[in-house]
Amino acid sequence: MILWFFACQLSPDSHLRDGLNAPIPPPVVALITIDTWRADHLSGAFSPNIWALAAEGERYTRAYSPMGLTSPAHASMLTGLYPWEHGMEANNHHGYRLRDDVEVLPEQYPGWATAAFVSAYPAGPAGGMDRGWDVFEGPAAGEAPGETAVKAAMAWLPTDKPALLWVHIYEPHGPYQGAGATERLRYGGEVRHADELLGPLIAVLRERGATIVVAADHGEVLDEERCSYQHERSISEHVLAVPLVRWSPGIKPAVIDDLVGLTDVPALLKGETIAARSHWFAQSGMCEADCAPGCAPAGLAGRDTVVIDAGGRWVNRPGRGKHVQGQPKPALRAALDGVPALKTAVSPTNKAAEILGYLEP
Ligand SMILES: [Zn+2]
Repeated sequence: MILWFFACQLSPDSHLRDGLNAPIPPPVVALITIDTWRADHLSGAFSPNIWALAAEGERYTRAYSPMGLTSPAHASMLTGLYPWEHGMEANNHHGYRLRDDVEVLPEQYPGWATAAFVSAYPAGPAGGMDRGWDVFEGPAAGEAPGETAVKAAMAWLPTDKPALLWVHIYEPHGPYQGAGATERLRYGGEVRHADELLGPLIAVLRERGATIVVAADHGEVLDEERCSYQHERSISEHVLAVPLVRWSPGIKPAVIDDLVGLTDVPALLKGETIAARSHWFAQSGMCEADCAPGCAPAGLAGRDTVVIDAGGRWVNRPGRGKHVQGQPKPALRAALDGVPALKTAVSPTNKAAEILGYLEP
């Protein structure tokens, strides 16, 4: 009791560390998102810092993104909702934005210091992604080096009050930079670079006893599909399957094969146990006939919708009807009909979007 008394004199938010005469800093909850990071690139070879974190925490092997586009997938992590529920149904340069009446992540942490440091405009302030944060830093156009976001986050992290942090790293997104004779090798190098950048931040967060969730917004098509080195046109596993890791002090290490999704991120950050889902919905960001033959109309309105369960997939492709892959439950075919059509809010593609490769009409 005496120790507790003195600790409380040091800081009203401090707690005692297992009876030692030293205050524990206030809690930290951190979300780290790596853009365009494939599930098969969470490994000791490609992402050793995060792989080591996963070995001491929870690694989810069947985690899915709702869409291969940055703004919608990140908005799902910030709200716990599918894109057609939170309103960000395509990237923000098309004019899509979060619905004003949905709660965003920082609003779930009243009284905490909150800050987001993002590295590219689709995760940036346009469209309401900056709502609720005390500090929100990120480009309104183009992209910024991940090092900028990491350094800003480490400089911001307060020691005198509870803190919620979001850091977004964009390096693995095309165009792939650096050494390597092929696009695949250059992509792998970008993933390694992103992991290297995050090493010091992860070390600081671990030292602080933070709850850390690391995820990708979506994966990437490399050389496996008709349209390669992109993500917005595909609903394949290369794009929809994402790495997902949680670590906190004392967490029981586990490899978890349950079906989960990026909408589970808010609950993961709170330390909750995630129930396995019976199925997961996802959509492509757009339709392009060269990539997905038979889809129509082209562009955002022609996107494929898929529902995934343990038995396989039902796919609804505009212009081609519904298709089954594997042996999903028949009830999922009806569930697929429940996904609402895209609500159009398309604005002209801007120059910043073209630079990053988002050329959809
Ligand atoms: Zn992205």
